Amino acid sequence: MTIATTNPVTGQVLKTYEPMSDEQLDGAIERTDLAYQQLRGTSLDQRGRWLNAAADLLEAERDEIARLMTTEMGKTFAAAKAEVTKCAAACRFYAAHAAEFLADTPTDAKAVSATRAYVRYQPVGPVLAVMPWNFPLWQVMRFAAPALMAGNTGLLKHASNVPQTALLLEDVFRRAGFPEGAFTTVLVGSDAVEKILRDPRVRAATLTGSEVAGRSIGQIAGRELKKTVLELGGSDPFVVMPSADVELAAEVATTARCQNNGQSCIAAKRFIVHTDVYEAFAEAFAHRMSALRVGDPMDDDTDVGPLATERGRDEVDAQVRDAVDKGATVLCGGEKPAGEGWFYPPTVVTDLDPGMRMWAEEVFGPVAGLYRVSSYDEAVELANGTAFGLGSNAWTRDPQEQERFATDLEAGAVFINGMTTSYPELPFGGVKNSGYGRELSAQGMHEFCNVKTVWVGEGTATAGAGAHAE
Ligand code: NAP
Repeated sequence: MTIATTNPVTGQVLKTYEPMSDEQLDGAIERTDLAYQQLRGTSLDQRGRWLNAAADLLEAERDEIARLMTTEMGKTFAAAKAEVTKCAAACRFYAAHAAEFLADTPTDAKAVSATRAYVRYQPVGPVLAVMPWNFPLWQVMRFAAPALMAGNTGLLKHASNVPQTALLLEDVFRRAGFPEGAFTTVLVGSDAVEKILRDPRVRAATLTGSEVAGRSIGQIAGRELKKTVLELGGSDPFVVMPSADVELAAEVATTARCQNNGQSCIAAKRFIVHTDVYEAFAEAFAHRMSALRVGDPMDDDTDVGPLATERGRDEVDAQVRDAVDKGATVLCGGEKPAGEGWFYPPTVVTDLDPGMRMWAEEVFGPVAGLYRVSSYDEAVELANGTAFGLGSNAWTRDPQEQERFATDLEAGAVFINGMTTSYPELPFGGVKNSGYGRELSAQGMHEFCNVKTVWVGEGTATAGAGAHAE
């Protein structure tokens, strides 16, 4: 794949990069490893000052960074600005909370025949981060902020269509004061990932991306016995029950499906509606979806910009065509527009069945599948009837139903009467084919820590050190 910035509004290639040579890649890994030896010895206060300085830079340069993101992958300028602000907030969050998250955790010393016993969190070393283009700053930051605070260093292999954002991230961390090499961008294609993962200096890897990439990285890392966190795709359910505020649910459903031009792993993708409120929801939802303005992402009035790549747009269209050819009904949208740019209209498709691609596959664009069910059990069965398990949404004002959904939905997150989103305060990740491991919160920080058990005995003959085998 070519490493290049291509504007999705025009299809014009704006800047192309030569992939790094093997020698350059080796040098980058070496710098990251040397930086680790340095960073691990710094204090949390020092790392916190650097991370806060990174937040200051992001805030000061927000509009410039946002414009670059919009140019590289087509998200609206407003969404890009919000993403930069969110990244700065995540830096500040980890700078403020690292001491608490990484504090030694004491345990009951007596129960383990010790005088003192505790858990200590230490860095593991250079971590490879393979990242996607859809939130080109946020996906990286939610790995980088906790990892750097914990004393790890990062080697970023970003998606090939956002090279300038990738280089900008390295530059931000360098200017913030982190040691040279603490966060390094490598401009390489996905074919170089295996070589990096096999390098003994690289201790772990995190991937946010597709199932295909997840299987490949998981396999290589498994052979190398290296820890991975995999954040993969999703086809999140959005269930609407009779007690829901249907108008509000339709409004939030529209945002939940079309945020980021429909290209979010945690976008709601399958709308599962109880028959008692189905007609009202379908009408309100299709009305709102068709009212969204599609156009130039730099324009303040635009709700939905182009999809990031031509291949991505063609894939979404092929999934809709497949459903229509097999008998599905389009309530709005559904036609690939002619002309320049990789636009696709907000679309609602219903009368879906298991023989159609949309039933089982993730649709990475502003296209909603709408399903009718007649009971709670049927809703949960359909919601869970997918290989994915990332986020999930349920709309109900019945407290008992809320509790049941929280337990019954097979997903890494359940949002009741809201849409799935990520917060630095809450763990983020999936189950089933959506991957494993968690980002964000204390859990995310601990993924790339050596969770070290420390056991201290009295050191006398009568104390009986380590009495039991294993
Ligand atoms: P993708 O093709 O998997 O690309 C993501 C990253 O992985 C890119 O850096 C890509 O490099 C690299 N890559 C691709 N194939 C690889 C392989 N076989 N081995 C190693 N690296 C590989 O993903 P995408 O289709 O562009 O992005 C959308 C997907 O990401 C969706 O499935 C979406 O749901 C998922 N996603 C998940 C989350 C989450 O948090 N769970 C968040 C956002 C997106 P190149 O660009 O050089 O190919």
